[in-house]
Parts: sequence; structure tokens; C-alpha cells
Amino acid sequence: MKEEQLKAYVEKRDLTKSPEPKGKLNESIEGNIFVIQKHNASNLHYDVRLEMDGVLKSWAVPKGPSTDPSVKRLAIETEDHPIEYADFEGIIPEGNYGAGEVIVWDKGTFDHQTYQDDEQVPIKQAYEDGKIVVFLHGEKLQGAYAFILMNKDDSEWLLIKEDDEKADARRNPVSTEQQSVMSDTTIDGLSNKKS
Ligand code: MN
Repeated sequence: MKEEQLKAYVEKRDLTKSPEPKGKLNESIEGNIFVIQKHNASNLHYDVRLEMDGVLKSWAVPKGPSTDPSVKRLAIETEDHPIEYADFEGIIPEGNYGAGEVIVWDKGTFDHQTYQDDEQVPIKQAYEDGKIVVFLHGEKLQGAYAFILMNKDDSEWLLIKEDDEKADARRNPVSTEQQSVMSDTTIDGLSNKKS
């Protein structure tokens, strides 16, 4: 039940005080949005979200995604977010959960590509099994990425670029492409608007 899935999202926030989406449910056909939000909370991180089963499955990636297949990035699973969160960009006010600036750093669709013994497994099963492969069609990130569950108790996964034609060890979009794909603003640009 999706009300249950978004319970943690709603409980963590005072949505009368934060401009974040209210968490209404999306009952439309299963989609395949992905979004990466750069979030300047107490610790800067990148929230990587994949649409799955009517919500956005979410991971906080402290160092952000890499385009280099030899790099493994820690991805800590966080609470499911409502689908409309994919368009959220703004400032979560002081005193609220996750206070700080949020920009849509990358967004697009993904193709689910998790295989086991040459058979594609359903994405929900891939998630339960702790290995999800998605092919991203973003503005900054393209190609296949794997999410690998390391430690279920601590919700720790690794996010790794698969070695395909979009892999590029020389690119470092986290540092060279800092602007929002929605508005062209940056975290600094948003925070300058604050006062
Ligand atoms: Mn966050």
C-alpha cells in the first residue's frame, strides 16, 4: 500500500512549514523516472532516486555518482519519496528535516536491466535481491549503473558505473557540471537568494 510506503516521508517532515511536496500518491502507470538532487543539508550529498512501484526509491550518495567504473560510491538508502518530488528544487527552511538548498542536478528516464541467468528479473525483485542495474538517460549521466546492497542493517549500498560506452574515467560531472538541469541555478545561486 503506497500510503504505508510514504509514511516515513510524511512523518519526518512538517509539510506545513517546508515547501517540499505533500506526498500525494501517484496511481498512474508504472513509470521510469530517475532524478538526482544535490542537497546542501548539514552534510552535502546527492539524492539518487528511481521510480519504482509508485514511489521514488531513494539513496543518499555523499560523494555523488561517478562516471568511472573503477569507482564505488557509498549510497545510503533513505525513505521512499513521492513521485512529484522529482521536480522539487528550492530551500528547505532552517529547523526543518533536511534544511538546506536542493537542486535537480540530473533527471531523465531509465531502462531497467537487471539480469539473472540471462533472464531479466522484475525491478521489485532486483531491489529485494539487493542488485539493481539501470541504464540512465540523463542530461549528465548516461549508461548503465549498478546498485549493490552491501549491508542491509545499515541500508548501505554501492553505486557503481558499469563499464560500457558511456563510462569515462576522465569526466567528473559532480565537480565540473554543478548547475541544475531544471533552472541552470547552482546550490550557491540558491543560497544567495536566501537572505
Ligand atoms: Mn537529501
